[in-house]
Amino acid sequence: MDAAQKPFLFVADLHLSAERPALYETFLRFLDEHARNAAALYILGDLFEYWVGDEDADDAFNGGVIDALGALARTGVPVYLMHGNRDFLIGRRAAERGGLQLIADPTVIDVYGTRTLLMHGDTLCTDDVAYQRARARWRRPFILRAFLTLPFALRRRIGLKLRAKSERTKKQTPPEIMDVNAQAVESVLRSFGYPRLIHGHTHRPARHLHHIDGYTCERWVLGDWYRRGSFLACDAAGCRVVEL
Ligand code: MN
Repeated sequence: MDAAQKPFLFVADLHLSAERPALYETFLRFLDEHARNAAALYILGDLFEYWVGDEDADDAFNGGVIDALGALARTGVPVYLMHGNRDFLIGRRAAERGGLQLIADPTVIDVYGTRTLLMHGDTLCTDDVAYQRARARWRRPFILRAFLTLPFALRRRIGLKLRAKSERTKKQTPPEIMDVNAQAVESVLRSFGYPRLIHGHTHRPARHLHHIDGYTCERWVLGDWYRRGSFLACDAAGCRVVEL
């Protein structure tokens, strides 16, 4: 394959965990059959179902995922990782082991001449005020530092509790509240540059068009892997969804 034609691949919300081993096979197949031939792989958050500190990489399942990405990175494909709301505690130790380059949310990249804004997507869901408040609290550096000093087993218990709580809240919150806010989308595209935004988080895969300041912008929402694995491939001709 001509190097200039290699696609950039984007995934998010894989939610990998030992509880869903079949998904792991899909993940390995994705790396082997698709990511190996990519210009770069971008993981836009929630690679893991949960992550409460880099001790999680000592687990055989999680370690396997990290090492599979490491093997890909060693073949020369750059692997970029953005934190999601489930795995924002992935730290330098795990990243180094997997050859992962941690990127900020948001990050702007150039995909064959198209300015492309990458986000996990949760910060766009501004109608969910309770979520945004909890998120802000958790991301405070001193809270994070304090949490990471707790024994790993306790952190894991807290993590599982928070996950169960978030599942309960999700069932009680009207679906439109949990989707992105149109003004938030408009505002990030205006601040970080048109014309393309790629994000995950909402588990509502789609391609949306937004007309902002005279620009036709496209917003790709990546699919989650709960039901079926998929990724977005973008090259000079544009983007397309590929199902696994
Ligand atoms: Mn998420």
